[in-house]
Amino acid sequence: MITLTNEEENLKNFINGEWIEVTNKEKVYNPANGEVLVNVPNSDTTAIHQAAESAFLAQKEWASVPAPQRAELLYKVGNIMKERKERLSQLLTLENGKVIEEARGEVQEGIDMAFYMAGEGRRLFGQTTPSELKDKFAMSQRCPVGVVGIITPWNFPIAIATWKSFPAIVAGNAVIWKPSSETPLMANELAKIFKEAGLPKGVLQVVYGSGATIGQAMIDHEAIRVISFTGSNETGRKVAMECGKQLKKVSLEMGGKNAVIVMEDADIDLAVEGILWSAFGTSGQRCTACSRVIVHKDVRDVLEQRLLEVMKDLTIGDGLDSKNKVGPIINQAGLDKILKYMEIGKNEGAKLVAGGKQVTIDNYEKGFYFAPTLFTDVTIDMRIAQEEIFGPVVSLIEVKDFEEAIAANNKVKYGLSSSIFTQDVNRVFQAQRDLDTGIVYVNAGTTGAEIHLPFGGTKGTGNGHRDSGVQALDVFTEWKAVYVDYSGRLQRAQIDTDA
Ligand code: NDP
Repeated sequence: MITLTNEEENLKNFINGEWIEVTNKEKVYNPANGEVLVNVPNSDTTAIHQAAESAFLAQKEWASVPAPQRAELLYKVGNIMKERKERLSQLLTLENGKVIEEARGEVQEGIDMAFYMAGEGRRLFGQTTPSELKDKFAMSQRCPVGVVGIITPWNFPIAIATWKSFPAIVAGNAVIWKPSSETPLMANELAKIFKEAGLPKGVLQVVYGSGATIGQAMIDHEAIRVISFTGSNETGRKVAMECGKQLKKVSLEMGGKNAVIVMEDADIDLAVEGILWSAFGTSGQRCTACSRVIVHKDVRDVLEQRLLEVMKDLTIGDGLDSKNKVGPIINQAGLDKILKYMEIGKNEGAKLVAGGKQVTIDNYEKGFYFAPTLFTDVTIDMRIAQEEIFGPVVSLIEVKDFEEAIAANNKVKYGLSSSIFTQDVNRVFQAQRDLDTGIVYVNAGTTGAEIHLPFGGTKGTGNGHRDSGVQALDVFTEWKAVYVDYSGRLQRAQIDTDA
């Protein structure tokens, strides 16, 4: 059984390399048992002013460190994370609820990101290109933007922070991080790891507090040049509007309404496995969770029957017990939202064929558990097929052919992830072309991103940026074009072209 230290139970902000006490604290609960887990600072805006001042000074120094040396630090961070993987995973499960196997996977994602982004320290490629003039050299290079603010959600409390902070740091920026109020422990751990690895003070700082106060203060602070946000569509819209007022660069990764398409020629057992993993993993609280299954009419009945059979085997309970496959929902508000959608679905005419209710676990009566749920007879326009429920709830939508399946997938306001199960190579290529999401899987569920590929979505899911992959660097760098004229005379572009 994992125990917390006093320091972990009473968290402090991490500003300018020091742990700073804040008197006003909020309680954070363990979703598995509803007990208080830690006390976290409910900071006011002065913390952001202090952090921004330190970051501003620290960034100038940090940017002057050669990128391969900055990368060395990420290798150290990755190695420390590797040594601590098991404890980090258990802490993650304690504060977030996801089952331990998935927590380990999430920590591994952070480790992978450290090594991948460390590699970027020896790349960070720009371009050279011929000049239109003689004896002139032209190139472009990436430059750090300066101080960046990152705002993260609770559902991937360490992975998403690494997707953002590691590229920012290797590119020479200073980072101020506001983690979700629900999951501060992972932020504390990552700050400790950076300190141990020897990151200069002020290059990464953590300020806890509400989004409305601390998130807004980050947006308002003129020294913070970029906001990289992951969270709900509703909050992302507000963040974008506030950043827009100040012409501040903003990267948004938001919700999803992801679908698995099962065609008539699909390997049904494989499809069932894929749906189970992507719909009920993390209790359906992944941005890439499968919440719609679009199934060809010829295999609809068999798919429903097989799904119902395997859903019965999903053991629900405390994520620290490795026999459990479905952990708790994050909190009461999350549970209430899912319950509300049960009523919406039934009132819309969908048929509730499994789950649909809160679950009480012996000795964990105050935990927030919800049964894996399946609605059938769902039509594409129903709210349960359109809105992000963020729980272990799947809607089965029947279609007559491939074209209708693609259209059904695309007819939502989100565009994060989609998947198709089929054996037909022509359909595979048509689907990957026509599915309008940022991520497409073939013969796999809607989850399973790898950190060296771009992660993000189209339409209501994002605003064109990507986390992870080399594309993550675009958020945290500016392009500079440099012209070096070695002709010894003034050459005028577009005028002296035949000189
Ligand atoms: P929220 O939008 O509620 O919160 C996200 C973050 O924004 C939190 O740190 C929150 O702080 C902060 N915040 C809240 N209000 C403001 C504000 N006015 N200004 C600035 N920051 C603010 O999302 P959740 O934490 O509930 O996360 C779940 C959501 O995230 C889902 O919609 C999910 O799909 C999405 N998500 C998207 C991913 C993607 O890559 N596309 C990946 C993972 C999740 P606090 O809560 O502490 O007040």
